[in-house]
Amino acid sequence: MAECLFCKIINHEIPSETVYEDEKLLAIKDIHPQAPVHLLIMPKKHIPTLLDLAGEDKDLIGDIYLVANRLAREKSTAQCGFRLVTNCGPDSGQEVLHIHFHLLGGRKLNWPPG
Ligand code: 5GP
Ligand code: ZN
Repeated sequence: MAECLFCKIINHEIPSETVYEDEKLLAIKDIHPQAPVHLLIMPKKHIPTLLDLAGEDKDLIGDIYLVANRLAREKSTAQCGFRLVTNCGPDSGQEVLHIHFHLLGGRKLNWPPG
């Protein structure tokens, strides 16, 4: 998607700090971190929101959870706890219409979120 910010990051048109990459997925550091660990895990396939997921994306979403598992351990958040969050739609505050999962940790996280 030509105008999508995260597609541009995936295509290296915009720089980012990559923490994980394979043929289907990319994980980067969030540019405005809300916690000591704040990563964004995304598929390279352009899927705007969670509501656009189809049955064929089932494995992709499973792979994202496995990468979250790996990164949570690597970033030492696995012991203390962390959160994996996907915003969807205006009320959630989703700003970038390319599905992504926030991995947040390294501090006490409030519940319920604001
Ligand atoms: P959303 O609000 O869509 O769930 O989350 C979008 C996230 O992308 C925000 O946390 C925001 O800080 C992050 N972000 C926005 N622009 C950039 C960018 O150019 N690079 C990186 N690494 N993160 C970005
Ligand atoms: Zn995109």
